[in-house]
Amino acid sequence: MTNKYDVIIIGAGVIGAAIARELSRYHLDVAVLEKETDVSFGVSKANSGIIHAGFHAPPDTLKGKLAVPGNRKFDRLCEELDFPFERNGELMVAFSEDEIHTLQFYYDRGKKNNVPYLEIIGKERLLELEPNLNPDVECALYAPSAGVICPYEYCFALIENAKQNGVNVITGEKVIHLEKKGKIFEIKTEKNNKYSALYIVNAAGLFADEIARMVGITNFKIVPRKGEEYLLDRRVGKLVKRVIFPCPTKKSKGMLIIPTVDGPVMVGPTALDIEDKVDFSTTRDGLKQVFNHAQKLVPSIRSTDAITSFVGLRPAATRNYSIISKFFSIIKSFTGTKPEYIDGDFIIGRTTVSGFINAAGIQSPGLTASPIIAEHISDALLKDGLKLEKNPAFNPIRKRRVKHLRVILEKKFFHEVEKLVKENKKYSNLVCRCENVTEAEIVDAIKMGHTTLDGIKFATRAGTGRCQSGFCTTRILDLIHQETGIPVEKITKKGPGSEIVLTPLRKGQGNS
Ligand SMILES: Cc1cc2nc3c(=O)[nH]c(=O)nc-3n(C[C@H](O)[C@H](O)[C@H](O)COP(=O)(O)OP(=O)(O)OC[C@H]3O[C@@H](n4cnc5c(N)ncnc54)[C@H](O)[C@@H]3O)c2cc1C
Repeated sequence: MTNKYDVIIIGAGVIGAAIARELSRYHLDVAVLEKETDVSFGVSKANSGIIHAGFHAPPDTLKGKLAVPGNRKFDRLCEELDFPFERNGELMVAFSEDEIHTLQFYYDRGKKNNVPYLEIIGKERLLELEPNLNPDVECALYAPSAGVICPYEYCFALIENAKQNGVNVITGEKVIHLEKKGKIFEIKTEKNNKYSALYIVNAAGLFADEIARMVGITNFKIVPRKGEEYLLDRRVGKLVKRVIFPCPTKKSKGMLIIPTVDGPVMVGPTALDIEDKVDFSTTRDGLKQVFNHAQKLVPSIRSTDAITSFVGLRPAATRNYSIISKFFSIIKSFTGTKPEYIDGDFIIGRTTVSGFINAAGIQSPGLTASPIIAEHISDALLKDGLKLEKNPAFNPIRKRRVKHLRVILEKKFFHEVEKLVKENKKYSNLVCRCENVTEAEIVDAIKMGHTTLDGIKFATRAGTGRCQSGFCTTRILDLIHQETGIPVEKITKKGPGSEIVLTPLRKGQGNS
């Protein structure tokens, strides 16, 4: 049997999720196919979570054009979708005369990109704002419009709202064959399921070049750029209130200090071009690099405070130029005409294959630009002939059903804890002691469809604290089994091949 849709989106990272929600505003049959067991398990699970102000990328690139309007959307989005967002600002700091010139360059660029409230601030004000900064700092570019979010909570919220509005999200469904027959695209997946659609949106992150190749589009290649990040113990405290950047390098924004929206500080990422799209190894060299750079910004940061590390791979796109297009781009560079594509930029929109739309090469600031990218994609679909009729039943509101105990305790609303426990006894069972996550939150995450350890970790923060899930793993396994009936030995960390226990546990063994 073939499942027929108007639009199929391949990939459920923040880009596919934002597009799915955007398209759910219209009367359309839309499906999202995601190869991983859960959504947000690709690039979108491992990034810095910054909603950038938008002064980094040149104004003639999509990265430069889309960050500011993307950033602006987040106040409304977080209100509608109920995910944490803090507009805490970012600072790019300078230590030398040369770096002061660099700040001026980015100030001018930011102005061209329409970044609001941008200013260069002197040492005294800077150290007043961030007293833990290295006192050798001279001045900084201050962009108060930047903010931080939790990227997977954002992605989960988008997907949940898209589902509420009729989008079919199918996980564990890897597209292995795609071809256009007449006006229809036909898809075959690894599980041998068949789908068809009038339009395809390619939001496959690191694998977007492989999906494009299936329909004969070979003009770009995704080269992963590896970034290692380190999470510090919550007990270290905030250290900084704003995101702190050094002056950037040619390849990346440099290594940053990020006060995450959930509390702990994160440092990184490195930037290394690699070939392997599944190389998630952290290295001793990466650790050294990150902490050397971080200590230059905030001298009290210690690598011994790191409780875990992770790798994110930026899906950087480069064009595969033919000899003819290379010739034309050389001519264009002599005549001063802007090239059609700048290496490393986003690849968004219509293609030579009618009905096949790309949302590819979405590296940083992809998270920031995601809501605007979604609007660009719906425009591209419209231009390619898709009818966009408003769905009057569209409901933009998604509410979290369960409160996070950690957040209530941080605010010291102890009376609210008592009330919650009275309403739902599961609030009195602490499953993750480091992050104060209760059974009520875990059960809710399972009911939302997160049935792997990583899925539950991303949805609740259980397992992200100092003991790195030493205490809560068996308790979470028991709860997943209890709620879904999945045998404990079949429960995985992040999908098939990552099973956690090899032999069945005896009843109650998990709670020892
Ligand atoms: C270290 C790092 C730090 C970053 N920091 C920031 C930041 O602070 N701010 C910011 O704005 N941006 C940041 N970014 C960029 C941001 O994370 C990305 O732009 C964004 O996550 C890309 O989302 P995506 O949906 O395109 O890709 P993904 O999240 O990878 O989604 C693509 C999905 O497609 C699926 N897929 C692939 N092939 C198939 C197939 N054949 N069939 C079905 N599904 C398939 C994948 O499994 C994946 O889930 C950072 C990136 C990195 C790596």
